[in-house]
Amino acid sequence: MKNILNWPSLMLVLILALVISGCNTGGDSSSGSGGSGDNTSEAKGTIEQIKERGKLIAGVKYDTKLFGLKDPASGEVEGFDIDIAKALAKQILGDETKVELKEVTSKTRIPLLQNGDIDIIIATMTITDERKEQVDFSDVYFEAGQSLLVKNDSDITGLESLGGVKVLAVKGSTSAQNIREKAPDAEVLEFDNYQDAFTALKAGKGEALTTDNIILIGMQQTDNNYKLVGGNFTSEPYGMAIRKGDSAFVSEVNSLLKSLQDSGDYDTLHEKWLGAKPE
Ligand code: GLU
Repeated sequence: MKNILNWPSLMLVLILALVISGCNTGGDSSSGSGGSGDNTSEAKGTIEQIKERGKLIAGVKYDTKLFGLKDPASGEVEGFDIDIAKALAKQILGDETKVELKEVTSKTRIPLLQNGDIDIIIATMTITDERKEQVDFSDVYFEAGQSLLVKNDSDITGLESLGGVKVLAVKGSTSAQNIREKAPDAEVLEFDNYQDAFTALKAGKGEALTTDNIILIGMQQTDNNYKLVGGNFTSEPYGMAIRKGDSAFVSEVNSLLKSLQDSGDYDTLHEKWLGAKPE
């Protein structure tokens, strides 16, 4: 009885051993291109997740005219960053409508990416060394610079006039950090988003609002009682942020940027949102 039971198991072990050793000796992993999606060496990459889900989830701004602004009437979110998100959906899924635009703020965007709530951040985000410790970035797709927005009749002319002045900024932005270094005598008040910061400026809660020039220009377009002063006193190269270590997705995004440049579509987008082709 014992023998009858043991023989098949022994044979099985032998067969298994032969199969495994056979696999190893023939072990040229490059022949695995026809393998059945067996990419188990790493957790599933973002591109696979997007394809399985059938849509890209992009973290974008809802409060930033020109880059990502939600129209409360139509519910549509529009801007330069939004069109890039649509182009990425088209490149990966063949359909630019297959994108969900989730709202992020300057403070929430990195945690939302790290939690897996969004696939990518496309939200006026400056590439910095500090942020590179938490996320990976695409190539630069826009060059902004920090400036100041003040009332037309304000005496403030630039950083040198900010001593004792209340300056409004947004939490989690490079702007809030930079202004403390560049104007240490200013009093910095931080808000959750740009809508709130601009409302506070209009309500006289501060005399200047600071962030990227292009965001301030968007605000000024909605209310010409305000002007930009002080020039650009930082360099803010925008990049799209991706979860750390997903080099395949970074390459995909960079190839999108390259094809937008090569086709002239980048210039068209630039002109559509910012009024002129890039210099
Ligand atoms: N580009 C700056 C930053 O990444 C300011 C704009 C923003 O807050 O998104 O912090």
